[in-house]
Amino acid sequence: MTVIQDVGVYTMPAHLRTIVFDLDGTLYVNEQLAAEIQQAVSTYIAQVRQIPLTASSLLIKETRQRLTHERGTEATLSSVCTELGGTVADFHRTATQLVHPERWLDADIRVITLLTDLAQRFELVIYTNNNRTLAERILTRLGISGLFRHIVTIEDFWLPKPDRSALMLLLKTIGRSPGECLFVGDRYDVDLRLPAELGCAVHQVADSTDLLALASLAELA
Ligand SMILES: [Mg+2]
Repeated sequence: MTVIQDVGVYTMPAHLRTIVFDLDGTLYVNEQLAAEIQQAVSTYIAQVRQIPLTASSLLIKETRQRLTHERGTEATLSSVCTELGGTVADFHRTATQLVHPERWLDADIRVITLLTDLAQRFELVIYTNNNRTLAERILTRLGISGLFRHIVTIEDFWLPKPDRSALMLLLKTIGRSPGECLFVGDRYDVDLRLPAELGCAVHQVADSTDLLALASLAELA
């Protein structure tokens, strides 16, 4: 499915004013950084539960699978942390210490060009379950930190995606109606299902090819 067909399901591209991007797994894909984030969760839960790191990793994996099965939608790391007795805020304090985007990420000129072009025509927004410090370090490393009108992180509402009230607060923050927004993310359940239910356009990206397909929007507008 192309992005234009995606958008066409919900609204005409002419109505679009704002593109709301997820960050991790959407504007970049990097296995080493993802592994470092997983390691940070394991370290945090090991501290919370006073268990060895290997037991923590296994517990997290089992809990994530169980929550996903029970809820029928993909469980986030935030929900796993809460389920295991931690807090989202404390996890992010640990992650900020242990995760190093600078070691793993490089700027991709194709993504910089895409977002620079889109920013000429649309208001660009980041909406991420990551924290502000890490989000800004990642955006800086990717060479795209100056292109977003709003950067909304877990620290704005402390309500991890997917969350309907957080989504309503996001729309209020950016001053847009659902019909004016296109949401772009790598996980349908987490990033796109609720926006689609509200009437936003959505575009799921599995890799950089899907992301770069948004260039057709820059040409249309
Ligand atoms: Mg993501």
